[in-house]
Formats: sequence, structure tokens, C-alpha cells
Amino acid sequence: MTYYWLKKHLEQWQEAINADRKPQAVIINGAKGMGKKVLLQQIVADLLCRQSTPACGQCQNCRLHQQGFHPDVDFLHPDKEIIKVKMIRELTTFFISTPHCSDHKLAVIEDAHLMNTAASNALLKILEEPPPRGLLFLLTDRKHKLMPTIRSRCISLDLSLNHEEKAHLADWLLRKGAFTANQIGHALTLADWHPLTAVSLLENEGVNNFFHQLDEIYAALTAQQPITEVAKKMATENNVETWTFLNQYINFIAKSVLHPEKTQNAIEHPLNQLVKKNPKVLHLIMKFTDQIHLVMLNFNTQVKKQLLIESMLVDLKKAV
Ligand SMILES: [Zn+2]
Repeated sequence: MTYYWLKKHLEQWQEAINADRKPQAVIINGAKGMGKKVLLQQIVADLLCRQSTPACGQCQNCRLHQQGFHPDVDFLHPDKEIIKVKMIRELTTFFISTPHCSDHKLAVIEDAHLMNTAASNALLKILEEPPPRGLLFLLTDRKHKLMPTIRSRCISLDLSLNHEEKAHLADWLLRKGAFTANQIGHALTLADWHPLTAVSLLENEGVNNFFHQLDEIYAALTAQQPITEVAKKMATENNVETWTFLNQYINFIAKSVLHPEKTQNAIEHPLNQLVKKNPKVLHLIMKFTDQIHLVMLNFNTQVKKQLLIESMLVDLKKAV
């Protein structure tokens, strides 16, 4: 397992299947960038392969799985942010047939928290009379949104990094590519220590793009650029991910004001000094975080988004 922090979760899974009572359903829960799909693919490969554990990677089962065409595996994706009852009912049909070439029938529900009530109830029915060779995987980053009756029938793999694993993360990233310790520190702060998000930030110019964002905000607050222009650019160019990073930056600033001794991986930018200058600004900056959530929720209304950003920048400019 290349992703060292997933090893303990894989072991936890192996303990569960070696125990007398084989689980019927598994929740793989963890934030984006923690490696939910990587862990899932390893578990599925091990279940399908009839040669060895870990999976041999050579046999017919392994090859079909690698190509994404294994007939005993079914993937369910949300349709327009909803998993409907019809999709779950189709699973019942999938489970009725016997496995084609492996020992299991495996179904994966991605973003399982997006099941509506009817879909959840239909899933509960499946779990109440589990298919003998069937196994369900529910992937989610919001486990608490699943019905408690569903949660209680599943075993749960909650992906996380313990203190020691976090301490190794910077070294692991350093070995991965030509990144400086500074870039890695920034990526980890922005990614909130979610390893694969940090990798993607480093490999796709994400850190540089983020600093460009801060430059723009700084230019708006110091009257080097009109606020309307910056707001327009931010509303057009930013996606959910960039807003999340901005949110992380704000958390970082707030933390560095409240607990300077605990702040690691400092993100150095002239904007920091500007917002730290006046205690009132911290309060505003915290308000900014709530508004960022609003911006993220109202992602489809361009005009509303731009106005919201404009008003945040105007308030901030008055205070700094
Ligand atoms: Zn194999």
C-alpha cells in the first residue's frame, strides 16, 4: 500500500473479514483527499482475486477489475446530486444473480449520503435480508447524514491520520517530487492535512494559483485594483475547491492570531499583516468564512455570488 496511512484501515478490514461474522456492508468514511477510493479498490481487488491476498494483479479477476469491467462489481453514482430509489432497486436485481467469475457480488454506492429517504429505506430492506454472497460499500464524507438504522448495520472504516502519521506527511511529499519544504508546508495547510489534496495542489500549480488569489485580494484592499473587478474575477474563476482553500487560509490567519505558538507551516503573505493590524478585522475575517460557505452553496447564481464577494471585500477594506 503506497499510501501508508491507509495500511491500518486495510488491516482493520482484514480483521473484520477474518472474524466469524463477515460484514454485509461497509462504510468508508473520510474527507476528500484521504484516499477512500484507493482503499476501496484494494479491498475489492483482494475480494475478487482467487489466487492470493493481496490480489495477485495477474489473474482474470484482477485484470477485469483493473480494466473497470468486472461483471461482479456494480458502481452507483448520484444523478444530479441525488441517489434515487430506482437505483437502489436495481441493486436488488444485481444481487439476485450468482457471481460470474468471483466469489462475491460487490456493489459500491458513491456519495452514499446523497440517498433520499425512499432510497435509504430501500437500502435498509436489502440490509435486513442481506444477499448471501453480496457485499455493499458505502463511500461518504458525511457519515452522520446516513440513516442511523443503516449505520448500525454496517462496519465503518473512518479514514484519518494520527499524530505520528501527520508528522511523516511532509517527508512523504518531499520524496514524491521536486517540491520545496516551503511549498509542501503551504500545500498541507491549505489541504488541511488531507494527503491527496496536498499532492494535487503541488502537482497542479495549486499553491501558486492560491497565492495569486491572495495577491488579488490584497490589491483590492489596498486600492491598487477596483473591488468590483477583483470580485468579478473571483466569482468567475473560483471553483468550490479554491473557496475551500480560501476558507483554510482564513482559519490559518485566525489561528495564528489566537494561538501564534501553535501555528505551523506559516503562509507568508502581505495580506496577513493587513488583517492582523486591527482586532476588528479578525471578527470580520471570521464572518468572511460564513460567507464563503454561502458562496459555495449558491454556486449557480453568478450575479449573487459576485455581489456577495464585493460586499465582503468592501467591509474588509473599511476595516483594514
Ligand atoms: Zn488475482
